[in-house]
Amino acid sequence: MRLSRYFLPVLKETPADAQIVSHRLMLRAGMIKQQTAGIYSWLPLGFKVLKNIERIVHEEQQRAGHIPMLMPTIQPAELWQESGRYNDYGREMLRIEDRHGRDMLFGPTNEEMITDIFRSHVSSYKDLPLTLYHIQWKFRDEVRPRFGVMRGREFYMKDGYNFDLTEDAALHAYNRHLVTYLRTYERMGLQAIPMRADSGAIGGDNTHEFLVLAETGESEVFYDARIEDIRLGGREIDYDNVDECRGVLDEFTSLYARTDETHEDAIFAEVPEQHRRSARGIEVGQIFYFGTKYSEPMGATVQGPDGKPVPVHMGSHGIGVSRLLGAIIEASHDDNGIIWPEGVTPFHCGIVNLKQGDADTDAACETLYVELCKHGLEPLYDDRDERAGGKFATMDLIGLPWRITVGPRGLKNGVVELTSRKTGESEEMSVEAAVAKVAEIYALHKGLAHPEMMSTRAFHTYI
Ligand code: ATP
Ligand code: MG
Repeated sequence: MRLSRYFLPVLKETPADAQIVSHRLMLRAGMIKQQTAGIYSWLPLGFKVLKNIERIVHEEQQRAGHIPMLMPTIQPAELWQESGRYNDYGREMLRIEDRHGRDMLFGPTNEEMITDIFRSHVSSYKDLPLTLYHIQWKFRDEVRPRFGVMRGREFYMKDGYNFDLTEDAALHAYNRHLVTYLRTYERMGLQAIPMRADSGAIGGDNTHEFLVLAETGESEVFYDARIEDIRLGGREIDYDNVDECRGVLDEFTSLYARTDETHEDAIFAEVPEQHRRSARGIEVGQIFYFGTKYSEPMGATVQGPDGKPVPVHMGSHGIGVSRLLGAIIEASHDDNGIIWPEGVTPFHCGIVNLKQGDADTDAACETLYVELCKHGLEPLYDDRDERAGGKFATMDLIGLPWRITVGPRGLKNGVVELTSRKTGESEEMSVEAAVAKVAEIYALHKGLAHPEMMSTRAFHTYI
């Protein structure tokens, strides 16, 4: 993309009403525009990052055999009356009446609807296990929408639902989801720690929240500092292997890590004092096992091996896709702006032309641009007739991990400059070497993509 033809409405001034750094930077970098409290338009740069996050979520879900679909945003009230949650959900639910006087609602989550789909189409235990998921806009009429996309009223969420014949099988699905979530966050350059949580309105006993540690987080958390050293890393996981998935859960939950809802002083006191931490965190996901809470009242049964009907065991699993943008920025920024992890960056690198209109400089920038594109990379070329200082400030603000600076002085010696946004370190090299280096960096990330999705490309076409 050439910046002269893009829509990047960056703000010079720091917006006064934005209280936390991620909200300020998203506004300043022209990523979002608030339309009314807790409801945002996603401007082109924000939209690109949102889609990158969504793609990683899709890839990691499909790697584990979970099946994508799409349910509507508007739901009929009857389904929620059946489960008993229509009244329980309270004022967070946006209730709508259609022209015929029918009660509808803007979905805050989809347990009821997916259970309805399941009972309409699945009748035998032979069709299990089954995990379906979608990524769709949700609406919750939060009392205090704030912090930009972090606590919106309309927000984008991945929610997945597993259906299993037995409790054991459903617990395997739970563990499997825990592994997929760890992988998902790590690919986004984030450390999200699973912490024992409270099940709230969804119900059930087994639940973990995933928290990104950040001073601005809304959750209070207590944990053993040694948990920060555990990473999934590049291990290959066999998602059908019950013991392997259970092993990852055991490893990540063996040390004390809880939110304030489940925190117990007496147990925390057993953690050696030098490892005891209390901090704040951003909840970026949550997994639940809730047994037959919905399948029983809604009649989601299958015929078991002995011919008798059995209610299915279920769980639900959510990732805050739009909230993740805020969480990533909270975890990765400096005084000059955002620092995108390579896995989610809106453009792979920036090209800064220091002397627009100078024939050699323009030609070198064009070569860089075309060669990077040939490697399947997307550069953002600042081809505007602006001063260098302004161009650098914009690049720093929008946070592309790599910048290639091209000017007449360097070109005289046959070099351009490759700069890391994170470390600020620069290296001079030829145009060819710069292209090769950037391509090599991103080859690592492309290697993490899910091969089946890469071949279908179904989810990539609109990005
Ligand atoms: P919270 O405690 O922050 O209100 P929740 O526990 O009610 O969230 P879940 O039902 O667990 O939310 O939803 C799954 C994920 O969706 C959460 O982990 C969070 O990342 C995200 N999410 C929930 N509410 C919002 C919101 N208002 N704005 C943005 N993301 C949200
Ligand atoms: Mg939650």
